Amino acid sequence: MLDEASLLTERNGNLAAVASEAQRTLRDALAAAENGSATVGGGGPISLSAALPGGRDLANFATRTTSCAMTNAPPPNHPLRDFVDRHEKLFVLTGAGCSTNSGIPDYRDSNGNWKRTQPVNFQAFMSEAHTRQRYWARSLIGWRRFGQARPNDAHHALAKLEANGRCGMLLTQNVDRLHQSAGHRQVIDLHGRLDLVRCMGCGGKMPRDEFQQALGRANAEWLTLDAADAPDGDADLEHEDFSSFQVPACEACGGILKPDVVFFGENVPRDIVATAQDHLAQADAMLVVGSSLMVYSGFRFVQAAAQRNIPIAAVNLGRTRADDLLTLKVEERCEAALAFLL
Ligand SMILES: [Zn+2]
Repeated sequence: MLDEASLLTERNGNLAAVASEAQRTLRDALAAAENGSATVGGGGPISLSAALPGGRDLANFATRTTSCAMTNAPPPNHPLRDFVDRHEKLFVLTGAGCSTNSGIPDYRDSNGNWKRTQPVNFQAFMSEAHTRQRYWARSLIGWRRFGQARPNDAHHALAKLEANGRCGMLLTQNVDRLHQSAGHRQVIDLHGRLDLVRCMGCGGKMPRDEFQQALGRANAEWLTLDAADAPDGDADLEHEDFSSFQVPACEACGGILKPDVVFFGENVPRDIVATAQDHLAQADAMLVVGSSLMVYSGFRFVQAAAQRNIPIAAVNLGRTRADDLLTLKVEERCEAALAFLL
């Protein structure tokens, strides 16, 4: 399960990610050029050249490709649209790749390996006060950005799919609630939701925004630290002494408060798994969007779909754990691959 701390550390200053993003943009432009849909004479290749260090040759290549496409435009070929058109009721599973364009970084590389230290573990969070101090200190800083994230075209495209009656249920591994923000109605939050805090003693819940206020009141000096050093606040926080950070307890019972998400080392509630399996059983195909499926809690639904012999398509940059089970694999950014739905 992801935590805000890892989100924070990954968010800042990752030049490799910026370069990778520029490369993806270029690749999208090349793909568009090959489809004859790129505009000629616009600033596309030039701006790409500016975005990519040393990208001049690539930009020239894009220009050449564009001019070729204009004289010999191939017929439209869109395997993913064909897949969606062929099936009445899709079971959709989404992951971090769906939200990266909303400013929420994913946490695995194209091979499915961790880009950073693995997120907080449930046992450590429950048994160690210093782990909770570290988690909530970083979360205090990170929530303001995370909480302001807005849905992107991938979320809007899937909401449109549902509005068109083609999406039976959307199961998401994300905890950002961006599908709901985009207007998606039938959503199961497999790993919970970060906008709620739950008491591990009495089960009471409160909005994360409310707990943010409590954290801020108890730790005013940490807010000052963030204000003085916002861009790299999380990296610096890695070296802070967290022992002075005050973590409020549940006001009703004094219990440990935890974000209402499933941490690593923690099980997804059985009723949620069962409900999702019921919906999968009614689907005639499965669509995975932006997940490497490295976590078993999501992968098992692909296994279940394969056992039912329904076709499975996946949109993901890089390898997935289920590559050998897929009917169709689309290696594109989610919002680009799903743009035909908008
Ligand atoms: Zn309580």
